[in-house]
Amino acid sequence: MPEQITILGSTGSIGQSTLEVIKKHPEKFELVALGAGTNASEMIKQVKEHRPKFVAMASEEAAEQVRKEIPSQIPVLTGEEGLKEIATLEEVTYVVSAIVGSKGLPPTLAAIRAGKTIGLANKETLVTAGHLVMEEARKNQVSIVPIDSEHSAIFQCLNGENKKEATRLILTASGGSFRDWSRDQLKDATVETALNHPNFSMGPKITIDSATMMNKGLEIIEAHWLFGFPYEQIDVVIHPQQIIHSMVEYRDGSIMAQLGIPDMRVPIQYALSYPQRLTLDEMKLDLSEMSRLDFRVVDVERYPCVHLAYEAGRKGGTYPTVLNAANEEAVALFLNGQIKFLEIEECVEEALNQHVAVQAPSLEEIELADQWARELVMNLANASRSGKIR
Ligand code: NDP
Repeated sequence: MPEQITILGSTGSIGQSTLEVIKKHPEKFELVALGAGTNASEMIKQVKEHRPKFVAMASEEAAEQVRKEIPSQIPVLTGEEGLKEIATLEEVTYVVSAIVGSKGLPPTLAAIRAGKTIGLANKETLVTAGHLVMEEARKNQVSIVPIDSEHSAIFQCLNGENKKEATRLILTASGGSFRDWSRDQLKDATVETALNHPNFSMGPKITIDSATMMNKGLEIIEAHWLFGFPYEQIDVVIHPQQIIHSMVEYRDGSIMAQLGIPDMRVPIQYALSYPQRLTLDEMKLDLSEMSRLDFRVVDVERYPCVHLAYEAGRKGGTYPTVLNAANEEAVALFLNGQIKFLEIEECVEEALNQHVAVQAPSLEEIELADQWARELVMNLANASRSGKIR
């Protein structure tokens, strides 16, 4: 019986790649529902091509546009409730969580509570509420299979091994669009240059997160929750070629690595087909054409977001929620031209400094901390425009 799939965030970069994978293996995967935010034209195109049984749009207006253009027998649900509904449909067995940001948390939690297997791209869900998400997964005996390429690599390197014998998870980082820029040059970094990632074409938020290296910070916290390793055992190394997607070190000094071309269809397909591997007729890695693999340590002065994420992760409670929400808000402001590149990290740091954390927060307390951080960042940005920040 093919896996019955809902994609949350189908109009985005991960969503589109997931649809390509599903289309290649109709005997293994069947699409049930598509969900997204506001992009009606992409959703209409997807519905016409992939024929899901249900659609959900977060925006009422976008839903109305979609309804007008697709066959009337396909229901178009709306809002958070609509997204939760397509994530919990009885016939669905697998939910791809690929909404960007903490907006992905409610439908992902709903899917877990309904016992669906999760293919997780939406790292913000684990950063903001890791303890709740993992607890619900345990209670409902749900597997969360990573889609993020680094976590997919670690997942594969731990496969069949005794986790207790692993001493270190080593996440690789490209260094993002500003890998070779000095701190001084970063002062004038523009949105356009920040969006120009060296190896991957991804959604705007994660591309900016790669440039600030907050993406790696979020991934450290994601790895902590997914694999249950303490922060002391999670390291980051810059690896510009992004051929090694991440590694695991074992107590005898052996390091297991997973290599491949940087193409998100590989980890997406693996997450969908696990524990099987299916064919993927894309370009393969040719080792004979590779002259070198470079690695360098992460300079925390140059990339303070990595340090902020370690701090927030170690302190726990609502600190990671605040790290994530402040970052989401600051990135949105940067993309809108309202703050400068380096003000992203300043906003996050200030939010963490001012936050009075709640330990072991409930979902309501997480939502409150998230809201508090977003409002604080808006206020900081207003202060920045009037020249008062720092
Ligand atoms: P995109 O910006 O390309 O896509 C985001 C998706 O989320 C879109 O479908 C968008 O819908 C949807 N969305 C946004 N807000 C809402 C909302 N309020 N309700 C419902 N849907 C919403 O992002 P990516 O695909 O690049 O990234 C998605 C997630 O995957 C992120 O968490 C990212 O960190 C992670 N990831 C991405 C990788 C990549 O290569 N792109 C690699 C590893 C992880 P719409 O456009 O219709 O508004």
